[in-house]
Amino acid sequence: MTTEDTVFTKIIRREIPAHIVYEDTDTLAFLDINPNNPGHTLVIPKKPVRNIFDADDATLAALMHTIRKITPAIQDAVGADGVNINSNHGAAAGQEVFYLHFHIIPRFSTDGYKHTWGHTTYKEGEASLLAQKIAAQLA
Ligand code: AMP
Repeated sequence: MTTEDTVFTKIIRREIPAHIVYEDTDTLAFLDINPNNPGHTLVIPKKPVRNIFDADDATLAALMHTIRKITPAIQDAVGADGVNINSNHGAAAGQEVFYLHFHIIPRFSTDGYKHTWGHTTYKEGEASLLAQKIAAQLA
């Protein structure tokens, strides 16, 4: 499936319904059909890109602008205590729709979702080596 064929493209084209909460020239935001909590919203660029690495800077800036603009309204609407803003990249990370999107997930102190991710530890010296390896890739 190409980026142009995904369900999100169909929502942009109004070929399938969605509860749209915000739209501007470059972005669209709508309620997730399978929300983690009420108000769970997805923000997508109108320009079709698969992930942040394929997106140009203007597209990323537009997405962040929309996220910053709409998140307080979402939180107010549902009375959320906090919010997770995340983007899954790759099937191993939970990505199911291969069209760039950010999740805005309202969080409640009572929702019981705390500590859903595990933790690991570094052996002696491992963190230092890893940081050097990443930095070397970027040099
Ligand atoms: P991800 O797992 O990060 O790729 O997230 C994809 C999200 O898209 C999931 O949370 C789905 O519930 C959501 N989704 C899939 N189809 C639709 C749809 N037609 N309308 C709204 N959200 C959808």
